[in-house]
Amino acid sequence: MGNHLTDMAPTASSFLPHFQALHVVVIGLDSAGKTSLLYRLKFKEFVQSVPTKGFNTEKIRVPLGGSRGVTFQVWDVGGQEKLRPLWRSYTRRTDGLVFVVDSAETERLEEAKVELHRISKASDKQGVPVLVLANKQDQPGALSAAEVEKRLAVRELAAATLTHVQGCSAVDGLGLQPGLERLYEMILKRKKAPRASKKRR
Ligand code: GDP
Repeated sequence: MGNHLTDMAPTASSFLPHFQALHVVVIGLDSAGKTSLLYRLKFKEFVQSVPTKGFNTEKIRVPLGGSRGVTFQVWDVGGQEKLRPLWRSYTRRTDGLVFVVDSAETERLEEAKVELHRISKASDKQGVPVLVLANKQDQPGALSAAEVEKRLAVRELAAATLTHVQGCSAVDGLGLQPGLERLYEMILKRKKAPRASKKRR
């Protein structure tokens, strides 16, 4: 099955060694639309899914630029204190975080904010680029990406953490590719940063 991600960020991909695979974790509260976005990526269409509570270890790998591929793995967060240590151990050594929110469910944005900040501050996630997908933009009353950015206090995440907030919808797929392109660029930028500082010494 072909995938439109193959065409992503052709200039940026030249920075990445061909053998390197990237691992991206897709997280967010239950029912935010993580599984639907992943299916949209995998099958290029909207697949009706049943909201998952707790574990959803859906994992797909898509080719991207010159890299060996990007693995997207989905985890639900929130309301599962007991499971938290477990998913944390599975999301170790991730290159990027995709945090999905339901932009139409405004009453859960505070809960989402707490989780986003908790994850980003975890010692092993510091500096990992964060793409916030403000999903369900097709829904009437959905907050804009700018409003979601404000409500989640994305700019208050650590200064060293590259972030981008992108509106999208799993129903029509709009916004998904541009969001992932930005994440890819942020990952490459971070990977290049230590090398650049070494050269200066
Ligand atoms: P998850 O628990 O985060 O994996 O959420 P799901 O992908 O299972 O989606 C939860 C519910 O929201 C399902 O009924 C989906 O059909 C619906 N959904 C997901 N994304 C969108 C979207 O962009 N727009 C609309 N209108 N519904 C969506």
